[in-house]
Amino acid sequence: MPRPLVATIDISALQHNLRIAKSHALDAKIWAVVKANAYGHGLERGIRGFAEADGLALIEPENALRLRELGWQKPILLLEGIFDAADLETVVRARLEFAIHCIEQIVWLERAGLSGPFDVHLKMNSGMNRLGFKPEAYRAAYQRLRANPAVRNITLMTHFANADDPLNPGLPLQQQAQQFEQGISGLSEERSVANSAADLMHPELKSDWVRPGIMLYGATPGGASAEQFGLKPAMTLTSKIIGIQRIGAGEAVGYGSRFVAAAPMVIGVVACGYADGYPRHAPNGTPVLVDGARTTTVGRVSMDMFSVDLTNVQGAAVGSAVTLWGNGLPIDEVAHAAGTIGYELMCALAARVKVVDL
Ligand SMILES: *Cc1c(COP(=O)(O)O)cnc(C)c1O
Repeated sequence: MPRPLVATIDISALQHNLRIAKSHALDAKIWAVVKANAYGHGLERGIRGFAEADGLALIEPENALRLRELGWQKPILLLEGIFDAADLETVVRARLEFAIHCIEQIVWLERAGLSGPFDVHLKMNSGMNRLGFKPEAYRAAYQRLRANPAVRNITLMTHFANADDPLNPGLPLQQQAQQFEQGISGLSEERSVANSAADLMHPELKSDWVRPGIMLYGATPGGASAEQFGLKPAMTLTSKIIGIQRIGAGEAVGYGSRFVAAAPMVIGVVACGYADGYPRHAPNGTPVLVDGARTTTVGRVSMDMFSVDLTNVQGAAVGSAVTLWGNGLPIDEVAHAAGTIGYELMCALAARVKVVDL
């Protein structure tokens, strides 16, 4: 028998969340983002969940190939483009669209001398200072791609740093949007600008394509809770209580004895640890459900287990059901308690965790 730790994926939640993304995107087409193994949910489930999307977008060339092997026929986009000239072989084999964010990628494409036709997404660094051409260098990159007979469509692409926090003084959303507009002025090609946060909260941003990721999996990109946006959790991580300890006041729990009981307590041990993707830095007090009742973690998370307070959970016993996140306990709440974001928790789900369909 495997361990009782299971991630259950609700394909209908993926489908539901895609419909929410579409309703916000108005007329824009949708790249459903499936990088990082569909944010931990599995590529094959991404294909089923996002069958109605206009295309799938990801980072990993080998997984793009896998999407084709799994039968995805519609467009596929490499969001960071190719990492090496040799990746062009994958691009051709899997008929991939790809981002162009630096001059080296343009040179690789020219030197390869392939006939294409290639559909590329020319990325502007509109202020985030991660990938892309600065606005003043954008036009030259555009012209150079246009001069390459193998290039067919060029989509105008950028990425926002603060769509979830538009007035961020470090880089207001409006400033980035203006930089982008200036850099592309006079160009009539399609635009691709919006991640989940921009899709949900900034309909004023003109975009022909949106690129939602996190919202499709039922977690929030920020700004409001997933539930307030009408999103449903796609992944529910559950386990069981595998041991119980009754401790007295002054007794400690776990490595480092970081939790000391102030009064007699009942402690439950959950089969789930940091080797499963549960955050080791989750402090005492991180929320957990046991038999549907809300309680909290106590003591350090260890590799294969952590402990919870069962003192006030009536009837809890070895075998009691535990929810780590998902239905009944938003992943964003657990992430917040642990000082991280839902993205990191779902992407970090470890390979040893059994994943099943609802
Ligand atoms: C990951 C990614 C997205 C999706 O972002 P979410 O915040 O998960 O919606 C969109 N665009 C690019 C370029 C990305 O890398």
